Amino acid sequence: MGRENVDNWHVKKCAKACDGCEEEFQDKQVLYSHLRFDEGEYTRKDFCKKCREGDGSALSTWQTLFIVPPPPAEEVVKKENAESLLRKLLAKENDEDLNAIFILTVMLERKKILVERDTQKMEDGRKLRIYEHKKTGESFMVIDPELKLNELEHVQDEVVVLLGGQPRNAPQEPAD
Ligand SMILES: [Zn+2]
Repeated sequence: MGRENVDNWHVKKCAKACDGCEEEFQDKQVLYSHLRFDEGEYTRKDFCKKCREGDGSALSTWQTLFIVPPPPAEEVVKKENAESLLRKLLAKENDEDLNAIFILTVMLERKKILVERDTQKMEDGRKLRIYEHKKTGESFMVIDPELKLNELEHVQDEVVVLLGGQPRNAPQEPAD
């Protein structure tokens, strides 16, 4: 059941034109990607700002943090890793987890599990980074908290602790 669940969440690439008025998107245009459940499948539709208002049936949009499946049941039993922790935090949709979420995606990008596909500027000026999971094809939409270096180290330590490790300034930290 777990596998099929993941496949259902496969998210399509961005459309070239608005799904409503069919106008082609311009470079750097703000658009709104909606995820819907259609005939047993999640499908993505992209809208311009004007058409977005008329679409009340979407489950979620790219302006929210993310689109990911809840972790399969068997994941709960396994030891937490960067990917399962990321899925868990994304599913919670808490703004205070933004920093940790971003660090986890960077970790998974280094491990070649996620590949960055796109960066979009959101209406409020924040950067939305879109990553693709190499194995499942899922899109992970993550707001870049644009951390300063000192903040970055602090959040990295927090994430390491969440993963059951020790912060970098702890004694005898083994090299990665
Ligand atoms: Zn439109």
